Amino acid sequence: MAKKVIVIGSGFSGLATASCLAQGGFDVTVLEKNDAPGGRARKFEAEGFTFDMGPSWYWMPDVFEDYFNRFGKKTADYYDLVRLDPSYRIFFGKKDEMNVPAGVEALCQMFEQVEPGSSKKLRNFLSEAKYKYEVGMGEFVRKPSLSLWEFADLRILASMFRLQMFSSLSSHVRSLFTNKKLIELLEFPVLFLGATPENTPAMYSLMNYADMALGTWYPMGGMTKIIEGMVSLAMELGVKIRLGEEVKQIYAPNGHATKVVTTKGQYAADVVVGGADYHHVEQNLLDEPQRQYTKKYWDKRVMAPSSLLFYLGVNKRLKGLLHHNLFFDKNFKQHAVEIYESPAWPTNPLFYVCAPSVTDASVAPEGCENLFVLIPWPPTCKIQRSFVRNISIS
Ligand SMILES: Cc1cc2nc3c(=O)[nH]c(=O)nc-3n(C[C@H](O)[C@H](O)[C@H](O)COP(=O)(O)OP(=O)(O)OC[C@H]3O[C@@H](n4cnc5c(N)ncnc54)[C@H](O)[C@@H]3O)c2cc1C
Repeated sequence: MAKKVIVIGSGFSGLATASCLAQGGFDVTVLEKNDAPGGRARKFEAEGFTFDMGPSWYWMPDVFEDYFNRFGKKTADYYDLVRLDPSYRIFFGKKDEMNVPAGVEALCQMFEQVEPGSSKKLRNFLSEAKYKYEVGMGEFVRKPSLSLWEFADLRILASMFRLQMFSSLSSHVRSLFTNKKLIELLEFPVLFLGATPENTPAMYSLMNYADMALGTWYPMGGMTKIIEGMVSLAMELGVKIRLGEEVKQIYAPNGHATKVVTTKGQYAADVVVGGADYHHVEQNLLDEPQRQYTKKYWDKRVMAPSSLLFYLGVNKRLKGLLHHNLFFDKNFKQHAVEIYESPAWPTNPLFYVCAPSVTDASVAPEGCENLFVLIPWPPTCKIQRSFVRNISIS
């Protein structure tokens, strides 16, 4: 009889795990506390608008393609991808904007115009970044990370220096380019990783390769289309998905199969996979003796930044916005200090606006704009007062 697996959570990780295990012959059930699948990538619908609640940047299309290929499928079986060109727009100030074009050739031309001589440096920078992407995604990411010994491979150790594990992305970028705007453009992708360019190893210029060489894509209908594709693949493979069912406890009575207690009942399982946040599964669902880390350990962890999000349905079309818009019109140094070093109410926050209705008419009623606004926020600072942040779009 097939072994029974319970997967907690129907985000990208839970759905991907469930499909891989079902393909391997396991009897898989996904338990999801929300009434809809997708986790942080679920959607919110109101008055004709469809908002992606979390992710909006589709980078590294090869990763998604590889995933569906494992099952003899392709992304096009589930959703239509379009490449955005320009990839995004950066606002540096009033009437001071930069459109970041798609494709390395167009980027080189833009770099050359902004800083003469920089296109050759960009090509070298991207060729190193390509190596880092191939090693990082091909070797590091695919290891289970159960032990440091997994990385004790001469080829990987030798590559540590070429990967620039020991210098910062900020100093790497600044050693090649002097123009402030080009520096900000090259430093921005690592902000997705939750740290500042000064505190991120130069290895992560692999993110620049993802941005500039592999491109910014969009699944028509919204990011939620990826989740819909993953759900339908999982169901084709026989995975059972139970929505609106929260796991409350995982325990293993002596000599008996593991039990998973939920808001609706109880399951016996041979294997339980936590696809929800590690901290939550370990500290809230497991009994103390089964936990790997103590509360004290978790209390000392440095949290990645949080964010303040707005889902705005606007009753007219807006001029001056592209699909992705980064507002770097204030000093990032101060915002970074207020997020990372001395968490505080951001004085003059930088922010990001996604306007998917610029590309996709299906996410807003006719003549309206769908806006998603994200302000990076210190994880410990509660939203408790109103604030005004003026912006100008030419
Ligand atoms: C605002 C925001 C913007 C982002 N932007 C991007 C982007 O542009 N591009 C990008 O690539 N990534 C982006 N990310 C990151 C990306 O969304 C996440 O890495 C990804 O969605 C995480 O998937 P996951 O499956 O690991 O976790 P989750 O999506 O959190 O899934 C965990 C699931 O477990 C469920 N769950 C939790 N506890 C229980 C329980 N006890 N019982 C049952 N179910 C439970 C939750 O409801 C949830 O559905 C963004 C994230 C956020 C929050």
